Amino acid sequence: MRPIPHVFTRKTWLLSACLAMLITQACKKINDTTADSPLAPQSAVQKPSDSTPKSLILFIGDGMGLSTITAGRIFDGQSKGLSGEGHSLSFEGFGNVALIKTYNFDAQVPDSAGTATAMMSGYKARIGTINVPPDNLLAGCGDRPAPPTLAKRASAKGLSVGLVSTARITHATPAAVFSHAPSRNWEADKDIKGIAAESGCRSIAAQLVDPATAVNLALGGGHKEFTDAQKQVWREGGGDHIYIESGADFGALNAQDGQDILGLFTPSHMSYEADRKKTDEPSLAEMTRFAIENLSARGTGYVLMVEAGRIDHAHHGGNAYRALRDVQALNEAVATAIDMTGGDTTLLVTADHSHVFTIAGYPKRGNPILGLVTPPQSLEQLLNDQEGDGPVLAKDDKPYTTLGYHNGSGPQRNDDSPALTDNAVQAPDFRQQVAVPLGSETHSGEDVALYAQGPGAERVRGVMDQDEIAAVIDAALGLR
Ligand SMILES: [Zn+2]
Repeated sequence: MRPIPHVFTRKTWLLSACLAMLITQACKKINDTTADSPLAPQSAVQKPSDSTPKSLILFIGDGMGLSTITAGRIFDGQSKGLSGEGHSLSFEGFGNVALIKTYNFDAQVPDSAGTATAMMSGYKARIGTINVPPDNLLAGCGDRPAPPTLAKRASAKGLSVGLVSTARITHATPAAVFSHAPSRNWEADKDIKGIAAESGCRSIAAQLVDPATAVNLALGGGHKEFTDAQKQVWREGGGDHIYIESGADFGALNAQDGQDILGLFTPSHMSYEADRKKTDEPSLAEMTRFAIENLSARGTGYVLMVEAGRIDHAHHGGNAYRALRDVQALNEAVATAIDMTGGDTTLLVTADHSHVFTIAGYPKRGNPILGLVTPPQSLEQLLNDQEGDGPVLAKDDKPYTTLGYHNGSGPQRNDDSPALTDNAVQAPDFRQQVAVPLGSETHSGEDVALYAQGPGAERVRGVMDQDEIAAVIDAALGLR
């Protein structure tokens, strides 16, 4: 019998008591993912059975480092009219948490290809490479063998395989579920030339539609990476294989049918959540709900990877607002999964790497997270019942924002910079000031967090190397 996968916290005690008493409304209050309570949310505690197939959902907030989670938590709370600092995101109540070392085989500050390989295949890869060992860069090309992908390991055990991403489905993180690519840029057939063509390497798109790749469901962006012939290969993949590109077609599907579906809603990446047109593109939570219903209907057990891919892109563009809106979208997707799954499903939430994104100055509690740094009341103001001061001025006599980027393409702060106003810095398109001018803001190298609940979650603790996450997945699902 499996151990009950939870540390017995005050929260789980409350939830257990709720279940025993069947006081549904009282439990709902405790389990409310938006509650501004020191008791973080967590799904109902259920003891896993040995007879039901096990499932696992790996949520990846691309670039969702700890400063992004903290800012996202405050942003989410404030946008709901709650106090932000003590607010909790849906996954912050998971009982098992670890810090994760993210370095690539050859890079101190990693990229998503190497980190996704570590998480899903269990070894550190070179930066920019997907599921190829560092000393065997053409593995998987032509007839060269390669270590099995997560999709292959799962399908070999009879599990179904799904992936959901707001990025192109051929982008590094989703591609690491199912493909081998010495270069993450070999997404489409047009990218296969020179050494790639000579070595018999296939594009990531070609690998996705190949029935041997063992992907049952893929929802995201990036249909321009696929040729018409490849879309037809998917449709002819056997059984009821469906290919769609529109939100309307998606809405007409019945997830309970358990059909194999490739849904690509945009030519490239899907829209930022802040810009998404609801009739054209489903939300990350809607895609997650559909995937769980579709995969569950098969009765096989499943592994599902869900990526909030555009947190990373908004950070690269130096725009905190869109990054935080996409953290909210991930938060809602995880909340959806918590509500829909039980004790036989392991939930993991992590980031592949962090960004040079900071929360700084000494803003007062409750200060708008996107705003100018405004200080708490001084002792003198408190004792004399006086209002606090306005925005703090830097040595250049200009105010500054709480959120910032160490580097990037945003405006550099210098003597010619205009004085910032609260209106300007809280506008959706504002790009925070940077110290080091670069064409694009970069990843950063500090540890990220991994949150876990469900079977096998007790392995998530302490400080772990990123390639150990694959061992957690494999143990939870009995893959090797
Ligand atoms: Zn990135």
